[in-house]
Amino acid sequence: MYGKGILKGLSVSAKRFVETYLDDIRWLGRKRYGSQEGIAHRSGKDGRGIFTIQYPEEKLPLSEEFRFLPFLVYDEGQNGEKNLRCTSCGICAKVCPPQCIWIVRSSDPSTGRPIPDPAEFYIDADICMNCGLCAEYCPFDAIKMDHDYELASGSRIIYDKAALSKPAKYYESIRPINAARENAARSAKAAAHNEKPG
Ligand code: SF4
Ligand code: SF4
Repeated sequence: MYGKGILKGLSVSAKRFVETYLDDIRWLGRKRYGSQEGIAHRSGKDGRGIFTIQYPEEKLPLSEEFRFLPFLVYDEGQNGEKNLRCTSCGICAKVCPPQCIWIVRSSDPSTGRPIPDPAEFYIDADICMNCGLCAEYCPFDAIKMDHDYELASGSRIIYDKAALSKPAKYYESIRPINAARENAARSAKAAAHNEKPG
C-alpha cells in the first residue's frame, strides 16, 4: 500500500507520545526529569515514551574515557605554586595529526640553553579533533583529555597556557581510575629509582 511506511512511522511517534504521559503517571511523585535516576530510566532499556535529554537543564552522565579538548596538568606546591608537569619536550605537538599544538620552550637567560618548562603553550580548539593522541603519547602525564564540552563560541578559540592549566586534583576528579593507576606507577618508579645503589 502506498504510504504504508509513513503511517508506520507516525504510529511509532504516536505510541511514544502516549507512552510519555503514561510513564509520567507511573513516575508520579518521583523525579522523572532533572534527576540522574530519571535520566538513567529514560536512557535504559525499560524506558518508555520520551527518551531524549532536556539539554541544557539535563545532561547525560559522562564515562571516564569521554574526551573533549586536552588540558595541561599541574601539581600544587606547598605554597600554592602551579608546577606544570609539562617539560616542553614537544612529543604531543609532533604526534598531533592536525598539528594544532604550538609550544615555545623556555631558555636559561644567562646561558640561553633550553630548560624543561614551556614559556608558551597553545592549542587551537577549532582544529583539535579530540583524538587524544597527545595525552596517549605524553611521557609525563602532563596533558590529559578534558570532560568539559560546553565551549561554544562565536569566534575562533585558541587556548594559551593559562587557560589550559588545571590542577591534578581536577584530573583525579574526572578520571579517578586512570589517575590512580598513573599515580601508582609514578610512585613505584620513584621508589625503584631511590633504591638504586649509588
Ligand atoms: S604535554 Fe607532555 S608531550 Fe607535550 S610537550 Fe609537555 S611533556 Fe611533552
Ligand atoms: S586531541 Fe588530537 S587533535 Fe587535539 S591536540 Fe591532542 S593530538 Fe591534537
